Order: sequence, then C-alpha cells, then structure tokens
Amino acid sequence: MCGIFGISGHPDAAALAHLGLYSLQHRGQESAGIVSAHQGEVHAIRAMGLVSDQFSPEKMRTLVGPLAMGHTRYSTAGSSTIENAQPALVRFKGGHIVLAHNGNLTNAPEIRDGLEAEGSIFSSTMDSEVIVHRLAKARAEKPEEKLAEALEGVEGAYSLLVIVGDTLVAARDPFGWRPLVMGRLNGALVFASETCALDIVGATVEREVRPGEIVAVAADGAVRTLQRTPAPELHRCVFEYVYFARPDSRVFGGSVDRARRALGRRLAQEHPAPGADFVFSVPDSSNSAALGFAEESGLPLELALIRNHYVGRTFIQPTQSGRDAKVKVKYNPVREILEGKSVVMVDDSIVRGTTTRGLVALIRAAGAREVHMRVSSPPITGPCYYGIDTPDRGQLIAARHSVEGIAKEIGVDSLGYISLDGMLGAVPDGPEGFCHACFSGKYPTKPPTVPEKLRLG
Ligand code: 5GP
Ligand code: SF4
Ligand code: MG
Repeated sequence: MCGIFGISGHPDAAALAHLGLYSLQHRGQESAGIVSAHQGEVHAIRAMGLVSDQFSPEKMRTLVGPLAMGHTRYSTAGSSTIENAQPALVRFKGGHIVLAHNGNLTNAPEIRDGLEAEGSIFSSTMDSEVIVHRLAKARAEKPEEKLAEALEGVEGAYSLLVIVGDTLVAARDPFGWRPLVMGRLNGALVFASETCALDIVGATVEREVRPGEIVAVAADGAVRTLQRTPAPELHRCVFEYVYFARPDSRVFGGSVDRARRALGRRLAQEHPAPGADFVFSVPDSSNSAALGFAEESGLPLELALIRNHYVGRTFIQPTQSGRDAKVKVKYNPVREILEGKSVVMVDDSIVRGTTTRGLVALIRAAGAREVHMRVSSPPITGPCYYGIDTPDRGQLIAARHSVEGIAKEIGVDSLGYISLDGMLGAVPDGPEGFCHACFSGKYPTKPPTVPEKLRLG
C-alpha cells in the first residue's frame, strides 16, 4: 500500500510535498521519496525508512522547482529495496518521466514480458514500471493523452501521479479502487491519497479525481481533464474505510470517522454484548469503531489498552521467546480497568490472528474475567490483489477456521464479526460500488497469473 502527494505551481513545492508525506506515513513505512521538476530538470531523493528520517534540510534544498511529488511505500520484505522506492524516475530522449503509484496492476507480468521481448530493460521489480515504459513509447502529443495511451490494457488498481516535462498528471483507474483527491493552495493544484495530506499543507479540498479521469496541470496552471471510458461498476476498496485511511480523512468523498463509527454501531446491533462492563479499542485503528459500538450499546468506553507509539516496524525482538513478546512491546493493558471485569474488545480486522491471540492473553493476564471480541469487518478469507498487503490465503486465520474455530484459536469467550451486508450498508455511499473480494471471495478480475510477482505500490 502506498501514499501519494503531488503539487504544481508553488515556489515551495518540495517542502509542501515533504509535509504532505508526513500525513501519508500510515500508508507506507518502508521507503519514501520526493522528486521535484523545474524547466526540464528533475531532482530526486528516495530512501528506505520513514519520512521523518530521510529528508534533511541540506537534501531538501536540492529539490528546487514549482512542481513536486512524493510517495510513501509499503511492500513485502522481498521487494523492499531502494530500486523499488518511488517516485520512479527515468530520463530518456524525450525528456523525463516521474511516476508515483498507489495500487497494484494485476496484469503487469504479462505486459512486462511483452516489453522485455521488444528490448525494454527494467530497473526494478515494481509493477508500476510498465507504465513508465509505455509512457516513454506513447505517441500521443499531450501528457494526459500519453498517459491514457500508456494505460490502455493495463488492468488492476491504480491511483497515479506522473510528471511529464513540466506537467503534473493525476489519474485513477476506471473502477476507482484507490482514493485520490484534488485540492487548491492559493494558485497551486494539489493531489493526495487522503484529505489529511491537504489539511497539513493548508490546501482546500476541491473534489475527488473521478474514476477513469486523467487531470493534467500545465506549468502555467491550466487544468485539462480527460475522461476515459467509464467502468460498468465501481470497485472502491472498502478496506480503506475499515482500516487503512486515517479517520480525519475523507476518502471516496466520505468521512472515514463517520464510516468507522457506523461500522461500530452496526456491529453492536448485529452482535451485542449484554452483561459486559465496558468496551475498549485496540488502538489506534479501531478507536472510532469502538466509539460507535459504545454509543449503540450504551456501554462505557474505557482506554484499557495503551499503545506505545515509538515501536518502529523494524523492531527486532531481543529473543524469540514466544509470539506474545512482540505484542507486549507494542501494547500494555491497564490492570486497574480490567481486573475482574467482563470486557468487549473491538478491533477493525483479524488477519493472521497472531496479534489478536497475544492481545487476548495480555487482557486476561491483566485480570479480565471474560473477553468478548467484536470485529468491524467480516472474516478475511482471501488475499488482496489490488494493493493491500494481506498475506497468502494459507496464513489468513479465517481461511482455515470457522468463527467458532477462530474464537477458540484466539482464546475469547465470544466472537462476533460484522456481516458483509452490514459492512457495505454502513459505509458512506454503500452498499454498491465497493470491492469486497478479500471478504466475499468475489474477485472483480480474474486472479493474476503470477501473484507472487505482484508487488505493492
Ligand atoms: P492479527 O491478529 O491478524 O495478527 O492482527 C490484527 C491487527 O492487524 C488489527 O489490529 C488490525 O488493525 C491490523 N491490521 C489489519 N490489516 C493490516 C495491514 O494490512 N497491515 C498491518 N500492519 N496491520 C493490519
Ligand atoms: Fe480492498 Fe479487500 Fe478489495 Fe483488496 S480485496 S481492494 S483489501 S476490499
Ligand atoms: Mg489495529
């Protein structure tokens, strides 16, 4: 999964992109990059690690120009290399192309095979690189037409930002899988995965980039749009509302906070927990859903689990003594709240079940009498091919166990998941027009032929 940010027409473009990336850090923590462009010259900084660690003032001073874009990347271990850090940048006889991608192209391996057979040389294992090659070959004149040509036959999920010459181009796939929003900061045009990144730079939200739309911003500020053939239906990723996006953002035109609260309320209707003493969340991703559950059930909300915010993803366990060690570093229960109580633990999702099992053990060790778990998304039974890093089917606890079986595995007294219809009815602008493949098994595309080659953007 990834976060993207772009700005055109501002003297401090790179500094604002840097700021925007801070607000998109949750969408990817493995690498970050900023590229600026000015009168045919491009400047790039890409590095592994967090936004806060990578862009020193000295480095930032090299990123001159009124046009900049940035990317935060999350990928699986195997492809977590600097070559795969974005934005991707190529220089060729026609100038330069810069590209930042959020999503996953399901037929990238086939397109790549074709391009390699014609002599193209790839410099990364990223699916997104096929678009760069196709852009370099495109015959159309205008940048937005070049991108439309390059995207012909490209399948899967993409929200894209591209720099061709001095033009910034933004595009969303016709199914609208991933979010992308457009805003204004004085005279400058700004694009970002989530509105929280527009807030941090002080831009006002104008509208979403529409599914299938390509928006080009020329160096003089002129905006041109091109609408590609609309898809018969939308496949907006419902998991953006459930887990991925920040609650202070709007994605797909709806409030993430309102979505999560509605999911929590619906969950409380479907799976109440009469007799419990209180509700608590697994911070931070389920805070809003737990609030909704508390509102609907009338149970008080307690802060029974505290999260340590300083544990990085690269944390290495000093010893491998038990799975719970990792959970303990990240979370600590509040014994004074839990002791002797029957509690409802709300989480947004269960993926492998390993964190959840560790958490339940911690809650019990802190004295809870009964633990009732409620989950604000349905069981995840399949992988995602469209940009979220869910593991293979074999590692998904709900692919192997029934709800009763999962309850036993994670050690809770009761377990309730929101229903598929409940989830789709609770999110803004539902129930139609959402992808729910990882929950329902209804994949809107044929499965990719080489899923292990699909790497995330
Ligand atoms: P599990 O019990 O499956 O090991 O972990 C469940 C937790 O993982 C939940 O708190 C949920 O918020 C979180 N989670 C769900 N999806 C993802 C994801 O794509 N990446 C990460 N890092 N955590 C996730
Ligand atoms: Fe989102 Fe799941 Fe569809 Fe992937 S499969 S796009 S996570 S709803
Ligand atoms: Mg969580």
